[in-house]
Amino acid sequence: MPAGSKANARVAIVGAGPVGMVCALALNRRGIAVTVFEQEPFPPVEQRAATTHPSTLEMLEELGVTQKIVPLGMVSTAYRFHDRVTNTVVAEFNLDLMKDEFRFPFALQYEQYKMTASIAAEYANAGDFDVRFSHGVTALTQHADHVDLDIATPEGPDKLRADYVIGCDGGRSTVRKHSEIEFEGFTYPEQFIKIATPFDVATLNPNLVLRNYFSDPNEWCNLFKVRGEEPGGLWRAIFPLQADETEESALDPDNIEQRMQKFFPKPGRYETRYVNVYGVHQRVAGTFRKGRVLLAGDSAHLNNPIGGMGMNGGIHDGINLADKLARVIHGEAGDDLLDLYSRQRRHAAVKYVQAQTIANKRLMEERDPAIRQANFDQLRRTADNPETARSYMRRAALFDSLRDAAAVT
Ligand SMILES: Cc1cc2nc3c(=O)[nH]c(=O)nc-3n(C[C@H](O)[C@H](O)[C@H](O)COP(=O)(O)OP(=O)(O)OC[C@H]3O[C@@H](n4cnc5c(N)ncnc54)[C@H](O)[C@@H]3O)c2cc1C
Repeated sequence: MPAGSKANARVAIVGAGPVGMVCALALNRRGIAVTVFEQEPFPPVEQRAATTHPSTLEMLEELGVTQKIVPLGMVSTAYRFHDRVTNTVVAEFNLDLMKDEFRFPFALQYEQYKMTASIAAEYANAGDFDVRFSHGVTALTQHADHVDLDIATPEGPDKLRADYVIGCDGGRSTVRKHSEIEFEGFTYPEQFIKIATPFDVATLNPNLVLRNYFSDPNEWCNLFKVRGEEPGGLWRAIFPLQADETEESALDPDNIEQRMQKFFPKPGRYETRYVNVYGVHQRVAGTFRKGRVLLAGDSAHLNNPIGGMGMNGGIHDGINLADKLARVIHGEAGDDLLDLYSRQRRHAAVKYVQAQTIANKRLMEERDPAIRQANFDQLRRTADNPETARSYMRRAALFDSLRDAAAVT
């Protein structure tokens, strides 16, 4: 064993969301003992991320996950930008064009909770991959050579001593707060509403593909297909609430119906499967490392969901961190490598995910007719030229963010 390596090191991961579970699996594959604490009694079923980009599919393939989830999800080759006012397609980006470059020239529509549950079911509680549900971390204390965690369990309070702690505990991260790490950025004034319907919206509009972005100066919309739990799948629409609209009013069944009918008029009421209103933030933690505490995923960065980058960027954090932390624990590198993790992934979060998602939202909601037209012309030109279309897809699939982050020293 190399000098400096620690044979019985244990890493505690707080949160069994997609980032926590992928990071735990990647560390465990490198021979590191992990304990994952999840406050919920079982893998949470949350209707959030559904799009996994080609760059993430490549990483998950190395863990044996992509091969299992591709047959269960929906393969989405193209995505389209629509002008909702004229009901026309502005531009289409087709990942077929990237066949010579991307190992997976498609995005996979597969809900995050299904991926998380399948990793938990297949790998957890074997080979020192310990996952404890109904275990909420309430506090942590750092020492020179370990971290003590306080945990609330159904049997009462418990404690665990870990060599390192990774906070994958989402936007309200207890780990981040207890480590006194700033979460800089802003919250949008308007909330978003997500409506899922089993009605096949594609029968009303032949221009739909599995992923659609509708620009509209009054009410933009993202419309995606997901598998859901039924054979025909679900269409999931995300809209902004109006500035003076309350959550209660938006959730009123008649207002949900009106919102859907205004978008895609059809005879009869829309059936819905789930509807949520949620706040949207653009925030990045001041650092992703403080001593023996590390942050990854939503605990480290939050962004709006336009472009599907939050979970993808979080999984990229988890894979980058697992590699570096394993090298530190195995004595192959000094622990300053963990500062490099923080610099690289913070760079990707700020320069790519924050910048791109803020720009995506502006494009969807632009009100000035001249700017809207200029945006559409630019998007059309980008999509029509194979070279610019390729660069656009590389950036949107987060390959540029990975290349640039790797160059950060
Ligand atoms: C509507 C919507 C659509 C989205 N679509 C996409 C998309 O298509 N693609 C994409 O990349 N991203 C998307 N996102 C973002 C994505 O959902 C998040 O970025 C992703 O869930 C982050 O994963 P995570 O594991 O970091 O955190 P989370 O998924 O939030 O998981 C955190 C886990 O930690 C647990 N936890 C919290 N506190 C504690 C504690 N103290 N102790 C123990 N456990 C704790 C929670 O119960 C939870 O299970 C979307 C988000 C929304 C809202």
